[in-house]
Amino acid sequence: MQGVVKFDRGSGFVELRDLEDRAPGPGQVKVEVRAAGICGSDLHIYHDTINYNIRTPVVMGHEFSGVVVDKGDEVGDDVVVGDRVTGEPSIYICGRCDYCLSGHYNMCPTRQVMGYYHDGCFAPYVNATFVHKLPETVSFEAGAVTELLACCVHSVIEQCGVTAGDVVAVVGPGPVGMFSALVAMAEGGTVVLCGTERDKERLAFAERELGVAHTIDVQAVDAVQRLQELTGGYGADVVIECAGAPAAIDLALEGVRKRGRVSIMGLPGKRVEVDLEKIAFKELVVSGGIGQRRTAWERSLKLMETGAIDNSKLISHELKLGEWKRGFEMMEKQEGLKLLLLPNQ
Ligand SMILES: [Zn+2]
Ligand SMILES: [Zn+2]
Repeated sequence: MQGVVKFDRGSGFVELRDLEDRAPGPGQVKVEVRAAGICGSDLHIYHDTINYNIRTPVVMGHEFSGVVVDKGDEVGDDVVVGDRVTGEPSIYICGRCDYCLSGHYNMCPTRQVMGYYHDGCFAPYVNATFVHKLPETVSFEAGAVTELLACCVHSVIEQCGVTAGDVVAVVGPGPVGMFSALVAMAEGGTVVLCGTERDKERLAFAERELGVAHTIDVQAVDAVQRLQELTGGYGADVVIECAGAPAAIDLALEGVRKRGRVSIMGLPGKRVEVDLEKIAFKELVVSGGIGQRRTAWERSLKLMETGAIDNSKLISHELKLGEWKRGFEMMEKQEGLKLLLLPNQ
């Protein structure tokens, strides 16, 4: 069997390689991967531009769904061979630090994640530590994207507290922005999705297919002024920043109302210059979000099961594992939206 392996540090150094079949370790289950999502962070791993715990060689990929085919020691009876599952990227957390004990294990300093430190899911099989059963109504394709949805549930609901009646501006209509928009709408927010000229198709898609209330091409109109027009002159109650560019962060701080909330999900990957004074003058509450916690997984699975959020709407392409390079290139050029690899096809 073969997997997509990052075999050395630096930009590039990724290829399809033969893998040894590995039995699940203690507390792990072995999952036959049916679908795996390509994440923006995979491009950062490809180029080695992410500040996270990476160990090479490593099989890439951390978003997946599949079927349990084997169980290691110490796995409880709640998971059985044949279960349809999705799973968390965390392979190891210490379980003893303050973050782990309070359920915020995404902050555990010794956390180790698949696709970075342990072999991930761009392969026919993956050994996972934390799996969740997929609701019967949810396809493997939609289930593979639960991790991304859970990231957005964590940032938009748990960290930023979006609630019914909020006007929520989402900056950056990539997969993270689109899923954040869906989460904000499921919470009862009115979404204004902001993008640039090159996002034209994505903005139109969001209005047409997702039911986003408003879109703004920030190069065609004054976005801050438009947000004020939509809110009686005040500005958005909440801005979710998903682009990671300085101009987008500036728009977030300018477009939000006084005493509003800003969620930072975008990763600039370097130091950037923004007008932080606005946070003081406008008495803003700014929250960050990275990864997810168990509560966000459970809420995401419920949103999928009830049909409140349909992940499959955002899946644009399904590729074979051998086409990984094409998938990465498409991501880089922002072609399509959410791309899946199907390692067993
Ligand atoms: Zn991801
Ligand atoms: Zn810990």
